[in-house]
Amino acid sequence: MCTLLEEAFTLGRIDKGVKCNVSGCGRDAVRSLSGVKVKAAGLKVGSEKRAYLCKEHYKEYKKRTKKDKQLEKWRYSA
Ligand SMILES: [Zn+2]
Repeated sequence: MCTLLEEAFTLGRIDKGVKCNVSGCGRDAVRSLSGVKVKAAGLKVGSEKRAYLCKEHYKEYKKRTKKDKQLEKWRYSA
């Protein structure tokens, strides 16, 4: 429940025609996220305020953030 609510707040609505702003991409965006978060995940975005991600880059973002969490867990248990 909490994570769903959180997502509703952090993921803004995407206007039609908004493109992914990872450098060199330009596909249609499906998600808007905090640019800081996206940069922290290692994706190159132009803006730190708002980042728009296409399906593929959103997948990559999720993959990378998941990896970070696993790494943290691993670090704590070591
Ligand atoms: Zn993209």
